[in-house]
Amino acid sequence: MTRIFSGIQPSGELHIGNYLGAVKNWVALQQRFESFYCIVDYHAITVEYEPAALRERTRDMAISILASGVDPARSILFVQSSVPEHTELAWIFNSVAPLGELERQTQFKDKSSRQESIAVGLLTYPVLQAADILLYKADLVPVGEDQLQHLELSREVARKWNARFSPATPFFPEPKAEVTPTARVMGLDGSAKMSKSLGNTVGLLEEPAAIWEKLKPAVTDPARVRRTDPGTPEVCNIYHLHKAFSPPETVRHVAVQCSTAGWGCIDCKKVLHESMTAELAPVRERAKEIRASPIAVDTALRSGAERARTVARDTIREVKERMGFGS
Ligand code: SF4
Repeated sequence: MTRIFSGIQPSGELHIGNYLGAVKNWVALQQRFESFYCIVDYHAITVEYEPAALRERTRDMAISILASGVDPARSILFVQSSVPEHTELAWIFNSVAPLGELERQTQFKDKSSRQESIAVGLLTYPVLQAADILLYKADLVPVGEDQLQHLELSREVARKWNARFSPATPFFPEPKAEVTPTARVMGLDGSAKMSKSLGNTVGLLEEPAAIWEKLKPAVTDPARVRRTDPGTPEVCNIYHLHKAFSPPETVRHVAVQCSTAGWGCIDCKKVLHESMTAELAPVRERAKEIRASPIAVDTALRSGAERARTVARDTIREVKERMGFGS
């Protein structure tokens, strides 16, 4: 069975950007693939953070993922730091990862330019990412377009390690990208990717009234100055959210109503709000039930980590054998 690996930062409760950009897709993919889903807490420590908040954010992320429909009986859901083989393989990969490529990574250049003191982990982050994926010999990695460069680095690390230590038969497969539909969800300001640090998000578990308060002032097509001005749906973030949450016939209707000025933007947002409520209400209810049963979360994560470790230990044993470790 084809195996996939995907990781998500422990950023607390999901917002609809990372729900649509990653986790909703995970729920669909777990039907077709052997799925490893990892909350990558080691990746979260390359920038300033609060230890107590990290624990809470990791737990909140696990609750959001389970409430979204990732089934721990079907998928392997675990926290990265529970499987120490991730960092062991990352160190090993440091010996083949090309420094020049790491320095050229867009995310490194972007994040390091905003910091006075740059941690080495910010530079070697993609090496740990390569270890995350290759530890499970994943065939496919669901990614957004902005992650393609990191995945290419994982492929290069696999090639270099194979060439050096397993030249006859490649030990690590070169993972391929499964580009996520709705990969890039814009924030309600319509100008930047939805992100907690930019304060432009809608929380997955927010109550309908709170979501409506955020939708009302959300930016739309600037050409719709007056109610009678026709718009271009494709340039409007609200239309793209309709594509993610509303049924296809509603999306077609929105496009017609927008381009003929049949609806005003508030009418359009009301319909989007109904679609969002229909999809998110059951997720919110499940999250409440899961939160009320902390043991269920612990059990799911512990069992996921045990299953992941079984695979991870085998990989590390074979890697060490090929590299000449042991007596
Ligand atoms: Fe956007 Fe809808 Fe307004 Fe058109 S009618 S600009 S799609 S909010």
